[in-house]
Amino acid sequence: MTPAESYFLPDGPLSRILPGYEHRPQQSEMARLVGVALDESGRLAVEAGTGVGKSLAYLVPAALWAKKHGKRVAVSTYTRLLQNQLISQDIPLVRKVLSDNRQSTLDTRHSPNVRAAVAFGQENYICKFRLNNQVARGLFDTVSEANAAGRLFQWADKTDTGIILDYPHALPPGLASRICRDSAACRREKCPFRKSCFYFKARDSWEHSSILIVNHSLLFAHLATEADLLPECDAVILDEAHRIEDAAVRHFGNQASEHALTLLLDRLASSKGGGLVAALGPRSTARRSIQTEASAARVELDQFFRAVEPLFSPDAQRSRFREPLESGPLAEALGRLAKALDEVVPELDDEALSSEMTGVARRLGRSALALEGFKVPEPDGAVHWAERSSAGAATRSSQGRLSLLAAPLDVAGLLRGTVYEHFSSTILTSATLTVAGSFSFLSNRLGLDDFKTASLDSPFDYEKQSLLYVSDHLPLPSQPADFNRGAAETITSIIEASKGRALVLFTSYDSMNAVYDLMPQTGYTHLLQGDKSTARLLDDFRDDTHSVLFATQSFWQGIDVPGEALSCLIICRLPFEVPDDPRLTAIADKLKAEGASPFREYQLPTAVLRFRQGFGRLIRTATDRGVVCVLDKRIIAGNYGSSFLKSLPKGVRLTTNLSDLTRFFKPAQ
Ligand code: SF4
Repeated sequence: MTPAESYFLPDGPLSRILPGYEHRPQQSEMARLVGVALDESGRLAVEAGTGVGKSLAYLVPAALWAKKHGKRVAVSTYTRLLQNQLISQDIPLVRKVLSDNRQSTLDTRHSPNVRAAVAFGQENYICKFRLNNQVARGLFDTVSEANAAGRLFQWADKTDTGIILDYPHALPPGLASRICRDSAACRREKCPFRKSCFYFKARDSWEHSSILIVNHSLLFAHLATEADLLPECDAVILDEAHRIEDAAVRHFGNQASEHALTLLLDRLASSKGGGLVAALGPRSTARRSIQTEASAARVELDQFFRAVEPLFSPDAQRSRFREPLESGPLAEALGRLAKALDEVVPELDDEALSSEMTGVARRLGRSALALEGFKVPEPDGAVHWAERSSAGAATRSSQGRLSLLAAPLDVAGLLRGTVYEHFSSTILTSATLTVAGSFSFLSNRLGLDDFKTASLDSPFDYEKQSLLYVSDHLPLPSQPADFNRGAAETITSIIEASKGRALVLFTSYDSMNAVYDLMPQTGYTHLLQGDKSTARLLDDFRDDTHSVLFATQSFWQGIDVPGEALSCLIICRLPFEVPDDPRLTAIADKLKAEGASPFREYQLPTAVLRFRQGFGRLIRTATDRGVVCVLDKRIIAGNYGSSFLKSLPKGVRLTTNLSDLTRFFKPAQ
């Protein structure tokens, strides 16, 4: 038995500190596998069904290994929700269990001292120097911006961490980027706030940690660039591993945004006469030369994105393009502006201003480089597309702000070369890594050829705790008008049977809004995604136990609503990706060219994984009971439906009879 496994024995250390502790063989097996992978410098992908308790199953062996060898383990997640859970619930438990076990015969070598920290990217921390400078000089375009910065200034005095996301109020657009830590603008040892700097205090805690909790994006950014964003880690555990591809695509891709560039130019020389140049004085030659170059850059910016607009067909939000774009004049204009700033900076006596201008110059340089990436035709193995955002539509054109994006089609090689090769051990885990029991899909997508794999069942009794209802009488979702009408009627009947307590999941805002508008009053509160923030919606859904929440996209994964409030999960249609997604189209083209079926090889397994994530929202604890209702009959009628059904937890019973729901929800006599 490995040291880590022994902690999970029926009468082991965890049983002594956790009231109602239940030994789960899957949990101790996972702890064993993780411990062995760390000891043997191995690579492991382990699927752990809901309820296995995977966080403790990797944290205990990671803490023991780090302590024994004086090493540091990075634990990387996709969501902040999981990071919060790890640092506020699981790590204190690991500290306690290791501390209590100090005197035991099981493991006397290890100190109880588990040092853990959460690392965020620099832009998440308030920079006191920049915030003070902004407030002291009143560098704001509007009164509401000045008031918001004033409130933030007071809050910065009270918070220990200075993490902007923890600030309880909304900030005006663009303000966060002006008061956050920016390596180019940071004064480091010369800064008057260096001793109490939030970012450097955080870095200090990272340096002293043996478990460092990060997110996938920050980890990839640290590994793929020369920038020293994190302290060195010896091993990595990537939780929520089913989202690694999403994070890698974003990180290894490229982006140029009209909105971001406009904000950057406004920061320097706003059209209202404000911005950093205002501090140079009205007669300054430097001010005139910067203003001239900034105006020229604005003209090029406008012309460039006007030329991008014809790429879109009417009403399209996204459009793939393969031809090169003439981004040279804009990139050159940004380069000239950056050069003008670089020339001014050494002449400045004002340190705050010089560090701000250095920061803007670096960002202009990075933007110019990003634009250069679109000067060439779309390369093999990547996709280029333009995207329209309705945010900010009023400021430029009725069509909205535009962005250019590039993304790799395959990240397996990048992950192998950049991430897995970097660490002595790499461990991937998630509740959903397999499709119909096989790892082959994610193994191909994530480059896991030399990984040992293991799949550990959920310890829950799905036969008793759950029921799968498939509505076999509705039209196919490909007939949206009829389907939506039928869906609204069926959801109404289901809600009557479940007495509310339902989460209704859609694959798009359009279908969610269409069905929501057709819903009659049900006697239960209806909540709609978009009406409030995600956090508020979830709080309301938990608090009003009989409410019904209509949601899409972000609610398919990562949310946790244990107990009665989520007793019924209604999946309106199988979650296939939207067919006009440019990356999906490009992957499909590539697979077709290779003689493979895009549907079988990519769309179907991707949808199955997402379906499993959605299904996993239902049963969160051993005492939860609930029904999953699927309104898309392709799950039983389609020739691929078995891929979805075979991927469900063992024991789930299937019915097409609505009255079985009433029986399931009937209180025991
Ligand atoms: S040390 Fe750098 S990040 Fe910290 S307050 Fe000073 S300028 Fe800002």
